[in-house]
Amino acid sequence: MPASSPKRREQERGRTEELLSPSEVATVRRQLLRWGKKNFQHYPWRSETDPWRSFLAEFLLQRTRASQVAEVFVEVSTRFPTAESLARGGLAATSDVMARLGLHFRAPLLASIAASVAESGGQPPESEEELRAFTGVGMYTSAAWLSLHRGKRASIIDANVARWLSRMTGMPYNRDPRKVHWVQTLAQRMTPRRAFRAFNYAVLDFTMIVCKPREPSCAVCPVRGSCAYMRGSTAAARPGTLRRA
Ligand code: SF4
Repeated sequence: MPASSPKRREQERGRTEELLSPSEVATVRRQLLRWGKKNFQHYPWRSETDPWRSFLAEFLLQRTRASQVAEVFVEVSTRFPTAESLARGGLAATSDVMARLGLHFRAPLLASIAASVAESGGQPPESEEELRAFTGVGMYTSAAWLSLHRGKRASIIDANVARWLSRMTGMPYNRDPRKVHWVQTLAQRMTPRRAFRAFNYAVLDFTMIVCKPREPSCAVCPVRGSCAYMRGSTAAARPGTLRRA
């Protein structure tokens, strides 16, 4: 499709029905839910019910891999089980935590968030607007925490999801999904009204295990029947052209 075609411009504005029809969206959603049930990855924060500790996990998961966070999360949430305890430790405590993930520069952000949450009673706010008012909490973290831990429907959109949807549709890949309306619209269309938590876990696991940045496992992919990349009709997000999400 030419870059300036009317169809492309509509899609860039967020119209996505021509990329995946309502029935294709429903099929993909069903296939991913089924795949996710069988392939659910057990990480310690996925069964965490405490609001602060689950929020802390989602904060730590930004810009790093789940396998790196697993060990750090268990230790940190034991040492600092509340926002108050982490706030008392101050920058020294958060620097120690973030250094272990190679993300020193995020330590002041975590110290500031812990102090704010501690001051307001120990629980993070449960609205996207208030969460994103914290410096260091973006679209991904707020959607992940609200949908996976607080029972509020939201679509998780990160670089992995943008890459997967680019492959599915043949649209160009942009690793910063905040700038791409069609990615947000399509992700929202796919997210079920009720089973959004299970769906979001399935998408996170699927984009980590099957539709990986390099060498996607198309032969065993549950949604290959709806994928433009599989049909060979796109050069979007081909392996070897990507930086890690
Ligand atoms: S068929 Fe391949 S490229 Fe398409 S969604 Fe599945 S793993 Fe990704």
